[in-house]
Amino acid sequence: QAATFDNGSPRKTLVILGSGWGSVSLLKSLDTTLYNVVVVSPRNYFLFTPLLPSTPVGTIELKSIVEPVRSIARRAPGQVIYYEAEALDVDPVEKTVRIKSVSSDDGNAESDLKYDYLVMGVGAQPTTFGIPGVFENASFLKEIPDAQEIRVKVMNNIEKAANLSVADPERKRLLNFVVVGGGPTGVEFAAELQDYVDQDLSKWMPEMSKEINVTLVEALPNILNMFDKSLIQYAEDLFKEEKIDLRTNTMVKNVTPTTITAKCGDNTEEIPYGVLVWATGNAPREVSKGLMAKMETQNSRRGLLINDKLQLLGAEDSIWAVGDCTFYPGLFPTAQVAHQEGEYLATVLKKQHKIDQHKWNMLQNPNAAENLKLQSKIDKLQSNIKAFKYSHQGTLAYIGSEKAIADLAVGESKYQSAGSVTFLFWKSAYLAMCLSFRNRVLVALDWCKVSFFGRDSSV
Ligand code: FAD
Ligand code: NAD
Repeated sequence: QAATFDNGSPRKTLVILGSGWGSVSLLKSLDTTLYNVVVVSPRNYFLFTPLLPSTPVGTIELKSIVEPVRSIARRAPGQVIYYEAEALDVDPVEKTVRIKSVSSDDGNAESDLKYDYLVMGVGAQPTTFGIPGVFENASFLKEIPDAQEIRVKVMNNIEKAANLSVADPERKRLLNFVVVGGGPTGVEFAAELQDYVDQDLSKWMPEMSKEINVTLVEALPNILNMFDKSLIQYAEDLFKEEKIDLRTNTMVKNVTPTTITAKCGDNTEEIPYGVLVWATGNAPREVSKGLMAKMETQNSRRGLLINDKLQLLGAEDSIWAVGDCTFYPGLFPTAQVAHQEGEYLATVLKKQHKIDQHKWNMLQNPNAAENLKLQSKIDKLQSNIKAFKYSHQGTLAYIGSEKAIADLAVGESKYQSAGSVTFLFWKSAYLAMCLSFRNRVLVALDWCKVSFFGRDSSV
């Protein structure tokens, strides 16, 4: 793509950090001919996170929920440059991003990228609240390698336990699978794990499947607190029926390689575990923290502060931020929010391009009357950039035994539904949300395969 447009104006460089929900939704909606677009992400694919909890036990194959960045970039109308690299540092004054290649041979190649406009879409990392032992001993469920790690741990533990006598307490520990965090990630994974035990393992290892214990630990009095009370009750009742050991009002305080220590009221409990999955929410990534530390206006520990046009406070003229790396009241860290933000930003960047073109024409043309006209066009375009408005469609969660819950919003009205029909709705909604036709077909085939042949649990 040429460095300048036909009228001689320079093509501005737009650097997009990340290849997740926010950045990819922007990339898909953006007119990439308007900018010199550079995408930087250590992950060369988009990950459809809503189905990630289904992958460790083999309900869905990992390949079915990823889409290569290069294939997304290829479909864009203009050229998109992609660097498989991690952004280490952003300098908002010099307008540069320090990046480190993750694919170069020495694994250490660092360079600086100059930008005119920057979009922060780096997401968040799992939080541990500094609880000792979590990083060293638990698995998270955020990325593909996490899902692979959980799968290996679960399958290995089952095989290890099979070599021990039934009376051996070590066998009991190995078969205790603990999930910490009763948000949707923890609930959906616990449900998938119990499904695997009840529907598949029970066929091949009927005795051992009865010994497996799935425990869900939540600090608050209830799980799934963002859902309507009736749905929370439905999910908790189903967990009891499914024999998932639900421990609410239980806050984990310490983790060792074999045991978690939790506070339950005035009591302290020791829970031995074989596999520990940690899902207690999000914390800012290092690159976001570094940027925040440089700017006085960035004084929240929850994420990058933005205004209602998604502009970064303190760098409104050149940096936007979308998705989980941001903190803005009323905008939750969900795919739905990040996706809509990405689409919104594409429309903003189109208007920004027009503004920049008028500005360039003003510089070329010293005619005062003409410039006045151009300035009024710029003012009009700027006032046309409206605040981002999030439209909440509702929240869905899979809760096991082919049942789901849905808290739907249609305009001002809210509807709740739960059960097997809601599970079919959950399936169709997630199929519709898949990024590509290929993903949609693969996910549908995975569901068919599981209903005919069961889950593939080989590691
Ligand atoms: P992400 O999608 O996390 O993308 C961040 C991107 O930035 C990644 O490509 C990453 O590789 C890249 N990156 C990281 N560090 C750097 C760096 N230093 N430099 C450059 N790039 C970097 N939400 C829903 O609405 N519905 C659901 O059903 C749902 N299910 C979920 C299930 C699970 C298991 C999880 C973990 C989350 C789920 N979410 C769901 C939440 C949703 O996934 C997030 O809100 C969404 O991914 C946020 O999008 P994002 O673009 O901000 O971040
Ligand atoms: P979350 O923040 O939604 O829930 C974390 C839970 O962990 C909370 O209920 C919290 O009380 C609990 N917790 C924190 N510290 C604890 C401790 N020490 N001991 C025991 N419990 C503790 O986190 P999440 O489930 O990872 O979700 C992250 C984001 O992704 C949320 O915004 C969520 O809405 C979104 N998400 C949505 C879906 C969906 O819509 N189906 C699925 C997954 C994730």
